[in-house]
Amino acid sequence: MTEHQLPHGFETLAIHAGQEADPQTGAVVTPIYQVSTYKQDGVGGLRGGYEYSRSANPTRTALEECLAALEGGARGLAFASGLAAEDTLLRTILKPGDHIVIPNDAYGGTFRLFAKVLTRWGVEFSVANTQALGDVRAALRPNTRAVWVETPSNPLLGITDLAGLAEVAHGAGALLVVDNTFASPYLQQPISLGADAVVHSTTKYMGGHSDVVGGALVLADAGLGEEVAYHQNAMGAVSGPFDAWLVLRGIKTLGVRMDRHSSNAEKVAELLSSHPKVSQVLYPGLPEHPGHDIAAKQMKAFGGMVSFRVAGGEEAAVEVCNRAQLFTLGESLGGVESLIEHPGRMTHASAAGSPLEVPADLVRVSVGIESVDDLLADLKQALG
Ligand SMILES: *Cc1c(COP(=O)(O)O)cnc(C)c1O
Repeated sequence: MTEHQLPHGFETLAIHAGQEADPQTGAVVTPIYQVSTYKQDGVGGLRGGYEYSRSANPTRTALEECLAALEGGARGLAFASGLAAEDTLLRTILKPGDHIVIPNDAYGGTFRLFAKVLTRWGVEFSVANTQALGDVRAALRPNTRAVWVETPSNPLLGITDLAGLAEVAHGAGALLVVDNTFASPYLQQPISLGADAVVHSTTKYMGGHSDVVGGALVLADAGLGEEVAYHQNAMGAVSGPFDAWLVLRGIKTLGVRMDRHSSNAEKVAELLSSHPKVSQVLYPGLPEHPGHDIAAKQMKAFGGMVSFRVAGGEEAAVEVCNRAQLFTLGESLGGVESLIEHPGRMTHASAAGSPLEVPADLVRVSVGIESVDDLLADLKQALG
């Protein structure tokens, strides 16, 4: 699909962007170029710019072009994991002595990267409640280089006004970085709301089948995109060709999957809201959620992640996780199968004792695309 045919709808881009039929064979699906190096036609005579697969590989290029198209950015880059993508971005935009504002609710591994790794390299961070823009403004310093946000956040499903936050960050000369893993570009496009960089764990909804670990960055600006691409090659945490192919394959069905994840999750949230053993349901699709109106404005639907607090406390929450059958007890999210977990002891254990610590009675579910009646029945029996 060539540039002059754009713009196309999201689902069309998901299936075709970066993915022309193979010029040699006509193969309709981008092949897995499982290769490390490329024959040169005379020294420096590269075919299509391919020299060595850390620098570029055609399967990865297809994914990177597709990612840029879906997020509406100038440059997409694919990495070995979400954290590898984050690390590469941060070491591109930050240097010792710089400061970054991070949210008070985020993926535990992201917090660990700031708290345990980057601080050793002289990068300072402050924690702010990004749902209150005044809180972010108060955390800004003259050396603030970036503001980081997740919306919906992991695991408390907090909603941040992205257009408002972009204004606050840009007003201070800082970049806005959005981890769009929970929403996916089908539900929310941060660059259109002012974000400078979008981060993904493609392990989650983008891959969508719990069979690959990967990460991605999409940069709004081509200049910054070029700088990050330089670091992608210089640091080397790239996506391998087979992993890139799995993510590309997953993305083709992203739209239909997100529609079903969202409608199933809405029904799960309704069931939990009326259950006597549940003290609180955290889901932006519920009208009583404090971020509901903003989410309705900046998202196409409310996504497949639901968290809830169990009235009986920590042990009761752990028991609910243990009793679930169709909801598989496990970390991660965003696959077609439903998962359940206890963030305090599992995904967010690394945030214990920090401002990002999560409630002990919290359970998080990744609502899959199974028959919704089966999912509701399983949660009912798990709650007892
Ligand atoms: C999983 C996750 C990450 C980290 O990605 P990996 O692929 O596990 O390295 C980052 N952000 C969010 C919101 C996540 O859920």
